[in-house]
Amino acid sequence: MSAISLPPSESLFRPMTDPFGRTIRYLRVSVTDRCDLRCFYCMSEDMTFLPKADLLTLEELDRLCSAFIAKGVRKLRLTGGEPLVRRNVMSLMRSLSRHLASGALDELTLTTNGSQLARFANELADCGVRRINVSLDTLDADKFRAITRWGDIDKVLAGIEAAQAAGLAVKINAVALKNMNEDEIPSLMEWAHGKGMGLTVIEVMPMGDIGAGRIDQYVPLSLLRARLEKQFTLTDLDESTGGPARYVRVSETGGKLGFITPMTHNFCESCNRVRITCTGTLHTCLGHEDASDLRKPLRASADNELLSATIDRAIGLKPKGHDFIIDRRHNRPSVSRHMSVTGG
Ligand code: SAM
Ligand code: SF4
Repeated sequence: MSAISLPPSESLFRPMTDPFGRTIRYLRVSVTDRCDLRCFYCMSEDMTFLPKADLLTLEELDRLCSAFIAKGVRKLRLTGGEPLVRRNVMSLMRSLSRHLASGALDELTLTTNGSQLARFANELADCGVRRINVSLDTLDADKFRAITRWGDIDKVLAGIEAAQAAGLAVKINAVALKNMNEDEIPSLMEWAHGKGMGLTVIEVMPMGDIGAGRIDQYVPLSLLRARLEKQFTLTDLDESTGGPARYVRVSETGGKLGFITPMTHNFCESCNRVRITCTGTLHTCLGHEDASDLRKPLRASADNELLSATIDRAIGLKPKGHDFIIDRRHNRPSVSRHMSVTGG
């Protein structure tokens, strides 16, 4: 008896448009929940990480990403945990870069803490990566160690230098932390702009139990902006990437400064992104407990029909927006997942 081959279903290439008319073009993939640092606002000191056996293989991650690309994703970001600590992560990068070569993908990029960047910068550039985000909350070595619990800032600075030498554009991301780096934002900005890098400041989000109260960490960026405006001329830029950042040009430095304000002002109405974890769980909103298991349909068959249908169902349930709250009465995580699981 000969097998009848059916044409691939439409679902494989169906654009992912949610009930609010937002089309998903951006996928962020957490390739590991592990990290070589323990930033106090991201992780607790004694984190329990996922058993390695639960992780998708690099081949499965590639297949999952490729299924999303077939459904219209144009930008792909690897994140974590720390993506550069996942063993052989560069083989995944290399393999995904075929979608840049084919024109299916506009951008392949990475968010990293920079600690391993010096080793990987040239290879990243060689894979077609053009821009990366490096997270750095302070330039003070002691504060850096306090924030990350044991990190060495020199490794990060060497990583940034190597990335720039390899021709990668670098954007610095800094989480604004009360009584920690809030006063340092102007000098961090001048340093970044002086090196031709943008800086984006982020409000701390109530994600995951970190063994400390969020209220003690949280600084509204409206406050930081008002302080910056006493010293610098900030001009709003019109550009929007569909993401949560809003940008200004700083006349005195000529550089770009971004604000990500999930707490004081969200931009969920233009959200074009979804996230998958290293175990293949799809989260359609950073600020909700919603989760769809993609590992089961991925492993259930060699073709992507079931997987694609599961993705379509999940996109159909994407929430309108998140509801993060930090105040004295809600001094508990709004979302139980740590940022390192979902991928920031
Ligand atoms: N390890 C990489 C890094 O640090 O860039 C990638 C993963 S990390 C989870 C991504 C980003 O999320 C970092 O810029 C980090 O500072 C930020 N982040 C972590 N926890 C956060 C939280 N609770 N609120 C806001 N940003 C957070
Ligand atoms: Fe690691 Fe990034 Fe989380 Fe810091 S923010 S603990 S570097 S995953």
